[in-house]
Amino acid sequence: MKALLFEQPRQFGWAELSEPARPAPGEALVRVHAVGICGSDISGFLGKMPFFSYPRIPGHELGVEVLAVGGGVTHIQPGDRCSVEPYINCQNCFSCKKGNGNCCENLKVLGVHTDGGMRPRFIVPARKLHPGNKLSNEQLALVETLAIGCHAVDRGAPKEGENCLVVGAGPIGLSVLEFLRLHKVNILVADTNQIRLDFVGKQFGIKHLIQIRGGDADLEAIQAACGGGLPTLVHDATGNPKAMTRSFDFVGFTGRMVFVGIVPDAVSFADPLFHRREMSLFATRNAHSGDFPRIIKLIEDGVIDTRPWITHRTTLLELPNSFETLIKPETGVVKAMVAVENE
Ligand SMILES: [Zn+2]
Ligand SMILES: [Zn+2]
Repeated sequence: MKALLFEQPRQFGWAELSEPARPAPGEALVRVHAVGICGSDISGFLGKMPFFSYPRIPGHELGVEVLAVGGGVTHIQPGDRCSVEPYINCQNCFSCKKGNGNCCENLKVLGVHTDGGMRPRFIVPARKLHPGNKLSNEQLALVETLAIGCHAVDRGAPKEGENCLVVGAGPIGLSVLEFLRLHKVNILVADTNQIRLDFVGKQFGIKHLIQIRGGDADLEAIQAACGGGLPTLVHDATGNPKAMTRSFDFVGFTGRMVFVGIVPDAVSFADPLFHRREMSLFATRNAHSGDFPRIIKLIEDGVIDTRPWITHRTTLLELPNSFETLIKPETGVVKAMVAVENE
């Protein structure tokens, strides 16, 4: 069977793999049906992802079907369709023992630090499979994207009635938005790109949309949408160091900021501003295991509507040809889904 490779930055390749062995105790053999393409895949392809090594089979947003399970695996059985939690943690380090496997000190993310799911079949630790038989394969692949927003919003812990700003209306910002919407808060979304803002207004029904142009007009628009002050919860999902610096301006007195997007560079900020307003700054990394079943249930119950999300589709064999188009923001791509053929 063929697996797609990022051979080196900006170069696709194919690996001819032999069939995986039978799953050992605690493992499962899965057949991959759908793979979502995300910002970190694009950065990996372009050679801009700090943790990426080559050659690598990418793919960490996965909708799979269980083909066989090893000894001791009881929560899933062959035929179950699952979302994969791609954060393979060691279960032994300080973070893992504390229940924070999302930031395990020895973390291996499928498709980033270790080979991922752009192949027909592979073995995964069964504890990383979250069954969701009522969801489509594409919805199961989308769960991981949503998990990023879920954990980011939990980090910010919105309070009822709070003004909450999301800076950056790409897929990560949208996943934050999905979970802010579950709270009784006033939501603002800011981006430099008006097309993205129009999408958020139309598909997510958000009224307060602010186009960032630089200068005081941005602050005035944000204050107006908050009824005077500045937001006390800001999620920055820009993945751009300059924008991250600017986001400090948008945080109100005693406010909290969550950096969702990650960049390889240093981010600087004016300390007097940070101190005067007594801000708190949070990082958010991946998501917790428990977020996966929670999100599967929210989709099942229709609380999260996945329809606006999947805008583009391709197949694994076609991917090298279509990749360049799928990663261009001007094509209006939110989430591209890759269907994986059986062979
Ligand atoms: Zn992703
Ligand atoms: Zn660990």
